[in-house]
Amino acid sequence: MIEDMLRTPAAVQDAERHTAHNYHPLPVVISSAEGAWVTDVDGKRYLDCLAGYSALNFGHRHPTLIAAAHAQLDKLTLTSRAFIHDQFADFCRELAALCGKDLVLPMNTGAEAVETGIKVARKWGYQVKGVPAGQANIVVAEGNFHGRTTTIVSFSTDSDARADFGPYTPGFRIVPYGDLDALTEAIDEHTVAVLLEPIQGEQGVVVPPEDYLPGVRRLCTERNVLFIADEIQSGLGRTGTTFACEQEGVVPDMYLLGKALGGGIVPVSAVAADSDVLGVLQPGQHGSTFGGNPLACAVATEVVRLLATGEFQRRSAELGERLQAGLRDLIGKGLVEVRGRGLWAGLDIDPALMSGREACERLMERGVLAKDTHGSTIRLAPPLVITEEEIDHAVAQVAAVLAG
Ligand SMILES: *Cc1c(COP(=O)(O)O)cnc(C)c1O
Repeated sequence: MIEDMLRTPAAVQDAERHTAHNYHPLPVVISSAEGAWVTDVDGKRYLDCLAGYSALNFGHRHPTLIAAAHAQLDKLTLTSRAFIHDQFADFCRELAALCGKDLVLPMNTGAEAVETGIKVARKWGYQVKGVPAGQANIVVAEGNFHGRTTTIVSFSTDSDARADFGPYTPGFRIVPYGDLDALTEAIDEHTVAVLLEPIQGEQGVVVPPEDYLPGVRRLCTERNVLFIADEIQSGLGRTGTTFACEQEGVVPDMYLLGKALGGGIVPVSAVAADSDVLGVLQPGQHGSTFGGNPLACAVATEVVRLLATGEFQRRSAELGERLQAGLRDLIGKGLVEVRGRGLWAGLDIDPALMSGREACERLMERGVLAKDTHGSTIRLAPPLVITEEEIDHAVAQVAAVLAG
């Protein structure tokens, strides 16, 4: 402990003094970054294997994105949606095309995209499906993470996220993740949507059984229920394809996007769906002061263009194999299980060895930043600009930490 305190720079203590303790950050104070690397206030460099929970898929300060932000800052930053600005049309058209959907609705944070999805699904349920007023239900999965608003935590199964934040919003049914029979049972004539992460990130990069997402798709179509895929963390190249659903050959009715959409520069989220779904919203029924602002659109349009080249998805798929293989070699050498797709891995450390937190602290000392999800599980999600050598370096540091 004393050793810990000596190592804790004054800047860490400073940062903690006047803040609510809703996070337990690793004791590192970062002052600059480029690509896959960050530098702390003492000049020490770290390989960033969290990438802002996938908000930094293109790395820190990607030159194209930074240039777009700079240029836009010099022209126009905010209009509100009361007026139209010249960055709006390109963003909406290009993002809709990337998603293969008719329409997009821009918001800011991921939680707002989820809230938007819930509102749209309910309105669709009443106006299109014919659900009696106030009776709509949405089926969600155990172990979900969809954000932090009061409605969203109402259907969380994580007691830290949920406890003492009631009264809770009704209208949600929770079923085990990956269990099609349970989902079949839970859907009734008042169900308007099934809301799922195609891979559960916060739960520890949990990949569902192979037939699950196609089964969800089939069920939703048969029962006239919207399939809403929360791709806020799994989407935009992270798993080796633009969307994680793609790898199962599944197209949801609605994509929820966020995190990487803002290029690690500004918060940008969006809902994408066809006009028979998103078309239910009329003026005044939903909105956001900052949603779709010029700076956000300028950056996010460049994000969409980076993804349209396919380069980042390819990198994630190819380099992901190397990462997953390297980590699988550590099973039995301190790791119990490795899950993942692309450059996204959940590692279960032998709990007898150390907690996830302890592993991340030791990785930090070795110049690799990662974050525990819970218990002895940690997640690796490096920026997609990471190189083969850097992946090998990260895996070697994990091996060294596990070897004690
Ligand atoms: C991060 C995340 C959210 C919430 O996004 P915020 O921008 O933090 O509100 C929602 N869903 C998933 C799957 C996420 O990973």
